[in-house]
Amino acid sequence: MKNLIDFAEELREKVDIVEFLSQYLAIKRRGKNYVALCPFHPDKNPSLNISREKGLFHCFGCGAGGTIYHFVMKIENVNFERAVEIVANWAKVEIPQFDYVKKNDWIYKFHEEIADYFKENLFKNENLLNYLKNRGVEKEGIEKFKIGYAPPNIDDFLKEKNIDEKKLKETGISPYRNFSKRLIFPIRSISGKIVGFSGRALEGEEPKYINSQEVIFKKGENLYGLYEGKEEILKTKEVVLVEGYIDVILLHINGIKNVVSSMGTSFTEEQGKILKRFADRLYISFDPDTGGIEGTKRALEISEKYNFEIKIIIIPQNLDPDEYLLKFGKESFISLMKNSYDAITFLWNESENKHKNDETVVPLTKDLLEIAKRIKDPTKRFEIIKKISERTHFPEEVLLEEIKEKKTKREEIIKEQENILEKEFLIYIIKNKEYFDLIKDEINENYFQTIKFRELFIKLKYSSEFILMEDNLYRELALSNFELGPKEHFFDIIKRLKFIYLQNLKKELLINLEKAEKEKKVDLIDYLKLKLIEIEKEIKNLRYKEV
Ligand SMILES: [Zn+2]
Repeated sequence: MKNLIDFAEELREKVDIVEFLSQYLAIKRRGKNYVALCPFHPDKNPSLNISREKGLFHCFGCGAGGTIYHFVMKIENVNFERAVEIVANWAKVEIPQFDYVKKNDWIYKFHEEIADYFKENLFKNENLLNYLKNRGVEKEGIEKFKIGYAPPNIDDFLKEKNIDEKKLKETGISPYRNFSKRLIFPIRSISGKIVGFSGRALEGEEPKYINSQEVIFKKGENLYGLYEGKEEILKTKEVVLVEGYIDVILLHINGIKNVVSSMGTSFTEEQGKILKRFADRLYISFDPDTGGIEGTKRALEISEKYNFEIKIIIIPQNLDPDEYLLKFGKESFISLMKNSYDAITFLWNESENKHKNDETVVPLTKDLLEIAKRIKDPTKRFEIIKKISERTHFPEEVLLEEIKEKKTKREEIIKEQENILEKEFLIYIIKNKEYFDLIKDEINENYFQTIKFRELFIKLKYSSEFILMEDNLYRELALSNFELGPKEHFFDIIKRLKFIYLQNLKKELLINLEKAEKEKKVDLIDYLKLKLIEIEKEIKNLRYKEV
């Protein structure tokens, strides 16, 4: 037995969820599934559905759902470990002694030790200490965040700790992609354990950052500085999101402690979800370069999804947050926070900037209308339309007409068909794991036009069943009564998805080709033409297969 999760998975297969839940609920049979009144919301009709074969439950009323453990956690108000224990006791299955805790313990301990070792090496390195000092980081910051330096060779250290290559790999520190001659930032989990490292190049080597491999460290699921700043974040319900490690450290040691870094510009959904547990207002302060602006837009999208009150900090003079703080001090940074922009103003200014040299006002109008489309509240939407009209001199009626969803009937039908295809495909692979295994490598997420289906497909491909069970859509599809046809029908769906995908790809290529021809980019033209031939061939193959 390897660990608690494995044990829980095996146990789940042994336990009949319907039988177990009957202790708590009056369950009735309905078709293939079972239903009951939901204990988690005032329920008049039985909205809680249970699938015996999938071992999951889902409430179509309040959205509660998941595995048997999710149920126990919710109804008994206990944590996962305790929930497993309760189920195991009920099923009279003995819980083994896990080396789980112990197993990861040595990795955490090793991480702590090697972080200390890297730190000692940093204190021996005058040049690097000077570099950090110039960036505003001195002993206090180094100690607090355990910044370090990885020497060219760590063999002696590894020998002393009795760590061979194989063991090193288990820690996520790859012997082949080591951190040598890099500045090291340990990354801590919310509970403070070092889960990995990020190594910054010092002499312009590529890549600029190398992270621990994703063994216990998951980049998109950690936020640098969250452990150190979480108390302050909880207190203020506010958090400043920055790109860089030094940004976090500098803000933190200068008294702005509610700061975290997404570790690069790509703020992930998972990170948004984590932050939402701590804060309601999110300040985004990315670097003022194009990457930063694109990153800001992406972060905006995710933050909107999680209902943050969003503020965007614009740093003058093209400075990064740490540079600005170093130059002007904490109070100035706080006044930047006070004068930060809301999302709409930020996007508006961005569009103005982007189109300042345009000859006509049309491209700007298009961009501004895109912003208007983001606003769901009709009054606010109308207000911004008025503003756009004032700015561009297009009459309000014209602008309103523009943002109306104007699809032709035909387009709508095609879109609808695609959705159903994608949905059907997903139901097939959720209900028949062997189907999924057959085509796993053949289909990729680009085949999906519908965002929620695309996201679910990615989850199906990469996430554990536990994570899947927490997904509303997954549970809905798993419980759906959709009648699936025979295997041939499944392959037919794949073919049709593929066909749509290739057609779209072709369209895109043709647009790019036209552009390249206008701009006379010879190499690009050749490349695109080759691509086009490839795709034509694939489309043709698909057609032949149909006969
Ligand atoms: Zn419910």
